[in-house]
Amino acid sequence: MSEKLSFVSPTANSPWGTYLSQVDRVVPYLGPLARWVETLKRPKRALIVDVPIEMDDGTIAHFEGYRVQHNMSRGPGKGGVRFHPDVTLEEVMALSAWMTIKTAAVNLPYGGAKGGIRVDPKKLSLQELEKITRRYTSEIGIIIGPHTDIPAPDVNTNGQIMAWMMDTYSMNVGGTATGVVTGKPLHLGGSLGRVKATGRGVFVTGREAARRLGMDLRGARIAVQGFGNVGSVAAELFAEAGAKIVAVQDHTGTIVNTNGLDLAQLIPVANKEGVVAFKSGGDIVPNEDFWNVACDILIPAALEGQITAERAQKTTAKLVLEGANGPTVPQADDILAERGVLVVPDVICNAGGVTVSYFEWVQDFSSFFWDEDEINVRLDRIMMNALNQIWDTADKHKITLRTATYAVACERILMARQERGLYP
Ligand code: NAD
Repeated sequence: MSEKLSFVSPTANSPWGTYLSQVDRVVPYLGPLARWVETLKRPKRALIVDVPIEMDDGTIAHFEGYRVQHNMSRGPGKGGVRFHPDVTLEEVMALSAWMTIKTAAVNLPYGGAKGGIRVDPKKLSLQELEKITRRYTSEIGIIIGPHTDIPAPDVNTNGQIMAWMMDTYSMNVGGTATGVVTGKPLHLGGSLGRVKATGRGVFVTGREAARRLGMDLRGARIAVQGFGNVGSVAAELFAEAGAKIVAVQDHTGTIVNTNGLDLAQLIPVANKEGVVAFKSGGDIVPNEDFWNVACDILIPAALEGQITAERAQKTTAKLVLEGANGPTVPQADDILAERGVLVVPDVICNAGGVTVSYFEWVQDFSSFFWDEDEINVRLDRIMMNALNQIWDTADKHKITLRTATYAVACERILMARQERGLYP
């Protein structure tokens, strides 16, 4: 009977389908807790909202928005908001579920949630962007809050958008609720280190994985897909450690330089116009050629489903660091494992962002702010402890790091579920 429900029957090749098959793989390692696993296969709550705004030309435009709370067994929902023309409810369901796994994997006292609006923000004026953000926040205001569900930035959203979200929620409740979102600007209760935290986490986990593989970062060749908040910061940190960034792809195209791209010059150009505007710094090649570029480390840091079976066969990388959420489809995961390519999965690799979001939330509640060194030391410690525990689990059961991360995380989530019991 339940087969027809959208929560349990994913469309073909969808991120939600990828997530469900990742959960299926962990069941043999859950022991008696496996009786609760169905909880992880359905979101707790999903809200679809209409977001109407008056455009600058006087027309009224309607956009579809979502907020999904996947699981709150261990604490309030936590997860970003994505503005992208291809966002769907099913995609947001998957992203919210990955947040549940991620917050548990690094042992933060949160569940998982995610939101999105089906819009191309690059086509909006600043005023329209503010209106859409505020109306969306007001519509999802019935389910978010500092103790219930705390949004943050994701693709195409940033500190300014978080400031508008915080202000809108605050106006509606009649106070200043800094703890309702994270990733805010510094003078609005934001945290030092938050902007770079996800990229830093990719670097910290990647450096440890490289060490365990016996790979020297000095001179290591790295290809990065997605050159926004996550990809550009990770690239910078690896370059500082002596690696060469040999290929970068973003929504405008792909640039390759086998001697290493000059990031100090590339980043400002990419931020303004996209990587292909940096023609003088390398060769512009067809997008599919990105996957053939000779490299040691591949960092997908754009969108889901990018490492397909075919691309997994092609890559010369020995190490894949998943900066993006859900970049590898399950079939590609198997191919990479067979080919001996180590994958540090999204649910640990990109957990640096939510970890510093947690620090921001704690600082907002205590109204006491830490310096950046303290934040980075705590971030590195949490990421390393989590990674080491996952590595031990992988070694013990002879499973991939992804399945090991799910094993560690699902045990925490389902134990909490079992201890709380079912209401009523
Ligand atoms: P962003 O908006 O800052 O950057 C996204 C980048 O991806 C841009 O360079 C864009 O040009 C590129 N891109 C978009 N479509 C593309 C395509 N079809 N092909 C190639 N490149 C494309 O977003 P971000 O915050 O860096 O997020 C990137 C990924 O990291 C997403 O999967 C996101 O969910 C994940 N993530 C982000 C955070 C965070 O703190 N921002 C935390 C965890 C995970």
